[in-house]
Amino acid sequence: MFRNLKPVGRILYGRNSFDQLGDILGELRIKKESYVLFLVDEYFDGKDFLKRIPLEPQDILKIIDVTDEPKTKTVDAMVAEIKGLGKGNPVSVVGIGGGIVMDYAKAIRLMFTNEGSSALYQGLDFIKNRGVHCTVIPTISGTGAEVSMTTVLTGPIKKLGIKGNFTAADQLVMDPELIKTVPEPIRFYTAMDCYIHNIEALNGHRRSVMGDSLGIESLRIFREIYLSEDSRTPENEEKLMVASYLGGLSLTYSEVGACHAMSYGLATVTDIHHGLGNCIVFNQLEEFYPEAVKEFREMMRLNNIEIPQGVTASLTPEQIEKMIDVSLTLVFMWAHVSGPDWEKIITRDKLRGLYLKM
Ligand code: NAD
Ligand code: ZN
Repeated sequence: MFRNLKPVGRILYGRNSFDQLGDILGELRIKKESYVLFLVDEYFDGKDFLKRIPLEPQDILKIIDVTDEPKTKTVDAMVAEIKGLGKGNPVSVVGIGGGIVMDYAKAIRLMFTNEGSSALYQGLDFIKNRGVHCTVIPTISGTGAEVSMTTVLTGPIKKLGIKGNFTAADQLVMDPELIKTVPEPIRFYTAMDCYIHNIEALNGHRRSVMGDSLGIESLRIFREIYLSEDSRTPENEEKLMVASYLGGLSLTYSEVGACHAMSYGLATVTDIHHGLGNCIVFNQLEEFYPEAVKEFREMMRLNNIEIPQGVTASLTPEQIEKMIDVSLTLVFMWAHVSGPDWEKIITRDKLRGLYLKM
């Protein structure tokens, strides 16, 4: 079976293209009472940027706390609160921020039209009704959440994406001006999510010409940024935004691999965020991606980045086993890495040895 893919709908791209957001939303405001729900990363709270958001009096703007990665209970609470206002559904849910805020926007828009808790829909193809219109506007680049068909949520039982026909955003605004304030090392960690997506997509059994073409181009641009003297030029901001987009799209036609399979385990028992977690794991994966791990370390050196060491040292044996349990549930990823007989290769001992090195 081939997946009938649905990545993001329309794409507005260019420096300062954010200023056209009002026109885009204007087309959706067909009634006097039409309102937009804006979700904005807390970094922008109190900043002049808020004045550039095309806010109408009937709109709702929520500043999003990004201390933790998105939770189903936060999604459910926000939808209940907005429904309780009796204003009907918004004409668009707009997420302005990183992967966290974009994933919140992608999830919340679905829960206006699908009953019950968002936790019921974690997994593939559980969403049955189209959500309300959703606009995503990345302000940090690397995750590919701006284009992907997934919204990653932590629920009462598991951290797993809601994925299906209705999960990608309808509108993407890619404005490289918006990412220039991201501090180091956060920018590096999130950017490396893109590098790792490409390396994983390009090494495994689920490869395809389509996925390879996108991944190779994303990787080419990425190397221009991170192997250069200065990764933070305006041109490199623009390249990073495009690399993230192409990398996210490449994954749609391939699969993530060993690093993501292990970093999901790490995220289950620690509160380490996705970008940093991936860097910590990838640094130990020479066995799977020897050349790329060398290149990754060279990028760290050139950009004066250090990765925390010994993050698993204080974990209990039960927590280590729990990480292994979670990692081994990601069968699609491991089958992509090691083929149909992956269970003979990816043993608990192997994963334990790798986790203990981190
Ligand atoms: P993030 O959303 O965690 O944000 C990282 C930090 O950057 C935050 O402190 C934020 O306030 C700050 N920030 C954002 N924009 C800024 C700006 N312009 N200037 C200064 N600071 C800014 O970052 P992320 O790495 O993009 O997202 C991680 C999340 O994405 C995780 O929850 C992960 O599960 C998810 N994810 C989703 C997908 C998907 O396909 N849906 C893919 C990968 C990761
Ligand atoms: Zn990732």
